[in-house]
Amino acid sequence: MIAAVVREHGGVEAIRFEERPVPPATPGHVRVRVLAAGLNHLDTWVRRGVPGHTFPLPLVLGSDGAGVIDAIGEGVTSCKPGDEVVVFPGTSCGACAACLSGEDQLCREYRILGEARDGTCADFVVVPTANVAPKPARLSFPEAASFALVFSTAWSMLVRKASLRAGETVLVHAGGSGVGSASIQIGKLFGATVFATAGSPEKCAKSKALGADEAIDYRADDFADAVRRLTGKRGVDVVVEHIGGATFDKSLRCLARGGRLVTCGATTGGKVELSLNQVFFKNLAILGNTMGSKGDLWTILRLIDAGRLHPVLARTMPLSALRDAHRALEERSVFGKLAVEPHA
Ligand SMILES: [Zn+2]
Repeated sequence: MIAAVVREHGGVEAIRFEERPVPPATPGHVRVRVLAAGLNHLDTWVRRGVPGHTFPLPLVLGSDGAGVIDAIGEGVTSCKPGDEVVVFPGTSCGACAACLSGEDQLCREYRILGEARDGTCADFVVVPTANVAPKPARLSFPEAASFALVFSTAWSMLVRKASLRAGETVLVHAGGSGVGSASIQIGKLFGATVFATAGSPEKCAKSKALGADEAIDYRADDFADAVRRLTGKRGVDVVVEHIGGATFDKSLRCLARGGRLVTCGATTGGKVELSLNQVFFKNLAILGNTMGSKGDLWTILRLIDAGRLHPVLARTMPLSALRDAHRALEERSVFGKLAVEPHA
């Protein structure tokens, strides 16, 4: 089979297309013929490398995927060859207190496909049975490969960590990003007023089409000023933060008393200055989040099936164009997700 592999960190040329043996379906696992792999910013971090973090290279890229089960390992009874499935990105032991409490991303054995074990940017991927679920019939394979990581992350941030309630206000950074486009929809689903930032008038219009009540063009307008204006100086209850150094201080200043900032990333750098006075005086909470639980993904699947949440797919490309897809992701030239098709 063909797999997109990183052997050494670097630019897009670090992505190598290699011929590999088709992996066997081991006990308790299924082999999925990947028909689409969804891309995430995580893929570009894995490719470039992160100072102070060691990835187990060589690694097949790709955390999200969808396809058809092609073989099952010994002891597998929950699915069969021919089933159309969504691949969930996080694997865990399934037996520890964290896993049994629905917080599998806290499991000590937690591994993300394409980050700590071979991922979906290949003709086939082998995953535990707990990592596949039926593909919603209304979705194409590229759409089905474009929501698990970002929707489970956004759900965990807004619903589990920030305990979002109806009537609250939320600021979502980068409405056109994967986590941003999912957060807008989940915020509206829970009855919040949602403000989204975006980098162009076109992306602002698309953010509003997804449900955002107001969109702030951060290139034309200071987003903190805009939030003050939109909330009559009160501030928002929740900020979905994944930009990091460039926005963190202002994001914190956007919060109303008792507000919660949830962060899942730092694309502009992870070092920030923090005024503790602001945190205790305004009774703020700063919450960290990585990924989300597989159990929540079943809820998200039901909501997608019912047409209440929607994957936002920008473009589908062949796996052979993965380098171009990484470039587009890094240039932020797309609104929504990119998917690649291995067998195209
Ligand atoms: Zn566990």
